[in-house]
Amino acid sequence: MDNDCLFCRIANRQLKADIVEEADGLLAFKDIHPQAPTHMLIIPIEHIPSVAQLTERHTLLIGNAIHMANRIAKEHQLSQTGYRLVVNCGLQAGQSVDHFHVHLLGGRKMLWPPG
Ligand code: 5GP
Ligand code: ZN
Repeated sequence: MDNDCLFCRIANRQLKADIVEEADGLLAFKDIHPQAPTHMLIIPIEHIPSVAQLTERHTLLIGNAIHMANRIAKEHQLSQTGYRLVVNCGLQAGQSVDHFHVHLLGGRKMLWPPG
């Protein structure tokens, strides 16, 4: 737990968030500035600064994060229309919170390449 970390504070319920699911050492909650009709963030409870810090020790955790995203997408009827999972890493990718998170976005047509 990093007391200066926004997402650690959400994981520890020190800060409010619209929590959707908690399981397998992971938490899913609604993004505060949604970029699509469905926009969730899936985070590990453990403080990991970014995807670049993941190691073999986290293999199961990462797998479970994808499973959780798929499960939430299904619950939001996104399986047929499609959805996007995004992980930003570092400055140029636009990572703004230094606690690893997977974005789940869906409910609208997405563009490629991303901006
Ligand atoms: P990043 O830019 O690091 O990939 O994504 C960080 C995300 O966290 C952004 O989409 C931003 O809207 C979201 N976010 C930032 N602060 C908060 C907060 O206090 N609560 C919630 N639920 N989401 C937040
Ligand atoms: Zn953290």
